[in-house]
Amino acid sequence: MSGQRLKGKVALITGAASGIGEAAARLFAQNGALIVIADIQDELGQQVVDSIGIDRATYKHCDVRDEKQVEETVAFTLDKYGSLDILFSNAGIMGPLTGILELEMKELDKTMGINVGGMACAIKHAARVMVARKIRGSIICTASVGALLGGCAPFAYTASKHALVGMVRSACSELGAYGIRVNCISPFGLATPLSCSAYNLDPSGVEAQVCAVSNLKGIVLKASHIADAALFLASDDSAYITGHNLTVDGGFTVVAHSYT
Ligand code: NAD
Repeated sequence: MSGQRLKGKVALITGAASGIGEAAARLFAQNGALIVIADIQDELGQQVVDSIGIDRATYKHCDVRDEKQVEETVAFTLDKYGSLDILFSNAGIMGPLTGILELEMKELDKTMGINVGGMACAIKHAARVMVARKIRGSIICTASVGALLGGCAPFAYTASKHALVGMVRSACSELGAYGIRVNCISPFGLATPLSCSAYNLDPSGVEAQVCAVSNLKGIVLKASHIADAALFLASDDSAYITGHNLTVDGGFTVVAHSYT
């Protein structure tokens, strides 16, 4: 998608040094937004800024597990660009491929800390600013097909993404009174550092595995497809859509799997 759908808007994107967040940062900037790229990978984050252009994007170190850093990043965004219209809360981890039988409780804590705690913290501080400044903002979180199904992702990850959908619905209910929309996106598998490292595969290996079980043949899911969905939810094109979980999964979660 191209155009100027986000002209004059300010977007904060977490986990934007890589993968889906990076693709969204590029697309949002092409569509006229000013972007704060928040991540823990400082060098990569700065490279993304440099390639977008320092007139359109800025990097801020932010570990979403640390509430102080999240609050400071929101304040930084306001200071730098004077508003916060869009939060794309996207930073997440997958962690080890363990099920309940081998679950290490510290891994559960870590996954929940980032995928649930980090998302909640970003929503909280962005929403506080939007409410205080009467900004009818858009908040978007990256969930997963693992938010809808058991058995397609590790236990802790599945639990964290299910929780995220609940948080999105709860925040949607609370923030609708202020005109703030809260939605999430649930992608199918795609080759990014997160999936490559979890499955110990190179990008072509991840793509091959995903294509083998995909419902929609002849197309490989890319970060840009998720960025397109995020742009839709960020823009006025989705002005009356809130509390929604937009699957970008080629139909994976709605198609029955054959017994034969
Ligand atoms: P990625 O590894 O390319 O990007 C994730 C980014 O999050 C990285 O830049 C990383 O540094 C950052 N990050 C990790 N922990 C952080 C923290 N504590 N604070 C701030 N930033 C942190 O992976 P991706 O696939 O683009 O993942 C983005 C989101 O998409 C995640 O929430 C993930 O769960 C979700 N997702 C990915 C897939 C997939 O197959 N790749 C599928 C469904 C959902």
